[in-house]
Amino acid sequence: MRAIQADITTLTVDAIVNAANNLLLGGGGVDGAIHRTAGPELLADCRLLNGCQTGEAKITRGYRLPAKHVIHTVGPIWTGGRCDEPQLLASCYRRSLELAAEHGIRSIAFPCISTGVYGYPADQAAAIAVRTASATLRTLPIPIEVTFCCFLRSDLGLYNARLAADSAEGAS
Ligand code: ADP
Repeated sequence: MRAIQADITTLTVDAIVNAANNLLLGGGGVDGAIHRTAGPELLADCRLLNGCQTGEAKITRGYRLPAKHVIHTVGPIWTGGRCDEPQLLASCYRRSLELAAEHGIRSIAFPCISTGVYGYPADQAAAIAVRTASATLRTLPIPIEVTFCCFLRSDLGLYNARLAADSAEGAS
């Protein structure tokens, strides 16, 4: 697992993850950027998926993106943390990685799901992302290279701190 600061639409990986909404018909933020770069074929493909529940994930091709696939997942809207937001956010990372493994994907990049318009506190979200990805990777039959793609420099700092703590834990 590693963290970088980049625009996720530029990454050449087997799959990028989209922080989508329940309709899967495009939106703002990273969702808008992914649809703009992938082109109209992505929206046409998404229309066939019948939406996606919060915490779940669905896969499409990447079309004009350098990434071969897009895994669309729907993060929770932050309302204070008492409506299962941590469990739902963890589920996004777990289900995306499980779906990736089922499709033979060997490299995947995640945006900071839910931390934009959906308002999830960035540090808590980074902790869940790193902890859940680390735990899920240990359960998968094949190794997957995970990149946490931070748009904001502040998020990169949070992820690097969480990754350092995770590898220190793994070594002890
Ligand atoms: P959500 O609705 O799940 O909060 P947003 O798209 O509003 O989704 O924000 C999620 C994260 O994606 C935020 O951290 C935001 O900075 C980041 N983001 C926005 N555009 C991009 C991009 N092109 N590449 C990577 N991350 C992006």
